[in-house]
Amino acid sequence: MNVRRTLELISQYEVKAKKKYGQNFLVDEKVINMIADTVEQGERVIEVGPGLGALTGALLEKCSKLTAYEIDGDLIEILNREYGCEKFTLLNRDFLKVQLPEEKSVLVSNLPYYITSDILLKCFREKDRLKSMTVMMQKEAAAKFFSTRHEYGTLNILADWYSDYRVVCTAGRHGFIPTPNVDSTVMEFVFNDRKADEDFIRFLDVCFSQRRKLLSGNLKKAGYQLTRDLGNIRTEQLTAEELHQLYEELR
Ligand code: SAM
Repeated sequence: MNVRRTLELISQYEVKAKKKYGQNFLVDEKVINMIADTVEQGERVIEVGPGLGALTGALLEKCSKLTAYEIDGDLIEILNREYGCEKFTLLNRDFLKVQLPEEKSVLVSNLPYYITSDILLKCFREKDRLKSMTVMMQKEAAAKFFSTRHEYGTLNILADWYSDYRVVCTAGRHGFIPTPNVDSTVMEFVFNDRKADEDFIRFLDVCFSQRRKLLSGNLKKAGYQLTRDLGNIRTEQLTAEELHQLYEELR
């Protein structure tokens, strides 16, 4: 149903996917259903980048209220015409510049890949307003959450400290129009009750500032007075728990 509609919309409105906005429209029904299945009936949902509404229709069937942020003004009229209803609020905004609604929500997105980590970081910063997020990202981007070397740096630690995460499903490149050069993975992050802490994020940024250097060097350079010898440890060798403990000791 959603897939047919997306295909019809592309031809009806002669939509040309915009590369600069990371537009690849999802047309894999199975993946759409797996994503929608992570939302419980009656939840309040935020969607980032509804595009032509591949996920929007499925989300509207389940949620009590859907707020969607779409940067591409050309898609707003189409989305409103196709999906407009009382529980749907569509905002022509850059998601990176908005503040999330106060009421706790579930965030869902087939992410624009050019800003994957910016969006994820924003969500961890504002996690107190989110119950969970289900996000499609490039397969390689998802794999970085499971690498022991904290390839993302701060983002890995935030994910480990503030959430439980899992792979929901994979999505081959042929499930999108236009076909991208990469395969994708859908991940769900369920946030815990720990309060978001900007100082902790700043501390992590210092710890990861020069990955090849020793942690002690990065901290001293930023003006921290060390209370114990950190030896030859590099930040990537420590767990989220160990880094948070160090943060508590040095604050
Ligand atoms: N959800 C649709 C789907 O699954 O077919 C479209 C997904 S497409 C990968 C990413 C969407 O995010 C596009 O509609 C794009 O215009 C939108 N987008 C890109 N940058 C954005 C931003 N900064 N804020 C809000 N939406 C953005």
